[in-house]
Amino acid sequence: MSGTEEDAPILDPEAFGLTADQAELTARARKLGQEKFAGRAERYDREAIFPTENYHDLHEAGLLGICIPKEDGGIGADLQTYSMVAAEIGRYCGSTALTWNMHVCSCLWSGALADDLEMSDEIRADHNKRRSIHYRRILNDGAIYAQPFSEGGAAAAGAVAFATSARPVDGGWIVSGKKIFASLSGHANYYGVLCTEVTEGEEPSRRNTLYLAIPADAEGVGVVGDWDPLGMRGTVSRTLIFEDVFVGHEAALMPRGVYFQAATRWPHMFTTLSPSYMGLAQAAYDFTVRYLRGEQPGAGPVKRRMYPTKQIAVAQMHITLEQTKALWFQTMREARANPTKDQLLRLWAAHYTIMENANELAQLAIRTCGGQSMLKSLPLERIYRDSRCGSLMLPWTAELCLDRIGRAALYEDGETDA
Ligand SMILES: Cc1cc2nc3c(=O)[nH]c(=O)nc-3n(C[C@H](O)[C@H](O)[C@H](O)COP(=O)(O)OP(=O)(O)OC[C@H]3O[C@@H](n4cnc5c(N)ncnc54)[C@H](O)[C@@H]3O)c2cc1C
Repeated sequence: MSGTEEDAPILDPEAFGLTADQAELTARARKLGQEKFAGRAERYDREAIFPTENYHDLHEAGLLGICIPKEDGGIGADLQTYSMVAAEIGRYCGSTALTWNMHVCSCLWSGALADDLEMSDEIRADHNKRRSIHYRRILNDGAIYAQPFSEGGAAAAGAVAFATSARPVDGGWIVSGKKIFASLSGHANYYGVLCTEVTEGEEPSRRNTLYLAIPADAEGVGVVGDWDPLGMRGTVSRTLIFEDVFVGHEAALMPRGVYFQAATRWPHMFTTLSPSYMGLAQAAYDFTVRYLRGEQPGAGPVKRRMYPTKQIAVAQMHITLEQTKALWFQTMREARANPTKDQLLRLWAAHYTIMENANELAQLAIRTCGGQSMLKSLPLERIYRDSRCGSLMLPWTAELCLDRIGRAALYEDGETDA
């Protein structure tokens, strides 16, 4: 356990009006995190290794199928519910929460999100049949899905088509390309790859983006390079190479054209990265309170809470945490197809706020608690390093959020200064 007592929920079920299911799921994740993940996090970080044991626990707890629809045997959580659960996991192990996010998105996007998008009855029936194949692998075999999109160019920011290509052939596609920063590389059973379907004589287009689950053991799939980063070290985000990899039609996690529709009509899909960092923000605050009260395990029972400067710093941290939580909770409630411009601006503001404030809280925590608090035997320095990564993640880096907010606040769609 990270403390002697059970940690309080990030969102108090009564105060925030959670449903009974949301309260139970968040409690389940918190218990798992506090009792099991917290104690393992140091080794995953230090050795930069994948949290395999945590995934066995997540499978056993039914949480690998959190966003698999109920009719397919899953929990059927929506984005808001998933986010609350992910934040509770991020509190104890950032790398587990972030990689679990990649896995869960393969179910959320092909599940509840796809249900919200337009498809003909025939295409939807085909899609529902196909997604069940993926869901059965997850529920029955504990299969893990990754989400490698980044290529090092402008595609992951949504600016151009993905360079990774899928050439249609009899029975499926031949996929070729390279993905960088592929969390879960070498550990996922399937790589949920975004690529561009290319046909002879046609320019690659974002409209032709395909979302394909490529088996990790398919011929032509390779994992290369090392992984020795500042933070989120347990994500093992190495480089993936696809050399003429054949996949059948059953690999499609979304039908043709549906990913593009999702990216343009259901933008909350991209904020699923933020709950892991909301959890880290809470962890930085929790650590500070425990440490100053002399109750942080491994730090000795010295109290430091009587100094007014410490009290002011904790007050600042509390205010920042509450601001972050409130904005986060509001935007998660607003997740839906075709949000209004006001909702979209709030979504970017929330994403930016969570990613930046998580690191702000962690650095305030270190400044306030002092030198002994940043020893590697304690979790704070890992929280500090992990929390730095949020603002770097595409498509909504902190810079790109500012870009989008500034432009959208000043221009209506299609407006120019010409
Ligand atoms: C711990 C961790 C895990 C990750 N896991 C995954 C994963 O599982 N799957 C995955 O797909 N990716 C993953 N990523 C990758 C991430 O989303 C980025 O692609 C990666 O950090 C590379 O970013 P870069 O800063 O080098 O990108 P660059 O493309 O070099 O961008 C640099 C900066 O320029 C700005 N920028 C980029 N494009 C534009 C543009 N078109 N217009 C204006 N400004 C722009 C952005 O602010 C960006 O931060 C992960 C990253 C981290 C840190």
